[in-house]
Amino acid sequence: MLKKRIISVALIATMAVGLVALTGCDKGTAGADNELRFYTGGKDGVYYNYGQALIDEIEDKTDTKLYIQESGGSQDNIEALESGDAKIALTQSDIMAYAYNGSRMFSEDGAVNDFCAIADLYAEQLQIVTCASDIRTVGDLEGKCVSIGVEGSGTYYNAIDVLSAYGLTEDDIRPEYKDFGDSVDGLMDGTIDAAIIVAGAPTQAIEHLESETDFHLIALEDDYADALVESCPYYEKVYIPGDVYGLPYDTLTVAVDAVLIARNDVSDDDVYNILSTIIENKDEIAENNSHGADIDLTEASSIATVPYHSGAAKYYEEQGITVTTR
Ligand code: GLU
Repeated sequence: MLKKRIISVALIATMAVGLVALTGCDKGTAGADNELRFYTGGKDGVYYNYGQALIDEIEDKTDTKLYIQESGGSQDNIEALESGDAKIALTQSDIMAYAYNGSRMFSEDGAVNDFCAIADLYAEQLQIVTCASDIRTVGDLEGKCVSIGVEGSGTYYNAIDVLSAYGLTEDDIRPEYKDFGDSVDGLMDGTIDAAIIVAGAPTQAIEHLESETDFHLIALEDDYADALVESCPYYEKVYIPGDVYGLPYDTLTVAVDAVLIARNDVSDDDVYNILSTIIENKDEIAENNSHGADIDLTEASSIATVPYHSGAAKYYEEQGITVTTR
């Protein structure tokens, strides 16, 4: 009798394992109830890898649990916060402001106010990459096949902005909407002429290109960069130093910031755990992702477009910094 029971328990257990495997409902693929779903980006960008570096450190130091989610990028992530699918997300500072104000891509469905800020983390440079020797300026992209970012990305909107600064629209190029990994593959096999990638430099996908073939970054001319900054307050004029990708020149471009945000309903304790771990363990985070080296308390607390989460405000207050909350 006992033996029979053991056999049937084993059978049920085997069936349960099979069911889990079939439905993918194990912790590794879907996230457990107590895990905060953290929307990042595509696997060849910075968000995903940086996000994993944050998770490793946060789970090591606190009892807050996060589950990483691949995504299309900034716009996708904010929409996932709005729907409740995401609890934590990375996004670009410009896209965050557009969402909060209900402008641009968020004008049709209205402002998204279900989220607040945790920290401003690092700069994301607009990188225009090509292997074609006849493409030297943004103007040369006219008529060319250019990857301008996957749907749901922030990259797409920055690509439109930079084209527009040069008097071009999406109709003047042959646009492709590829993620960073596919963009670089397209550059290598010659199916696309150039790719626009908005992500912290160095970006994994471009480092991969560097290891495979010759490429160059296209600089913005000074006047055009100025015009871009003037037309949109979220851009900053920056140089990508040559040594980032082993190039013999620095490249003038614009950058936005990568920011960490949370849904309003995430607990103060979880947000406090996340922020305190990030600020206090930057060296450990930088060991897993070089952009961790840019973590800085003053920078983190400098967001002025969106209010901070009260759990973040509590941590900043302990450090002598008062931030705006809702
Ligand atoms: N900033 C990019 C976007 O939202 C994503 C960057 C990344 O994956 O590192 O389009």
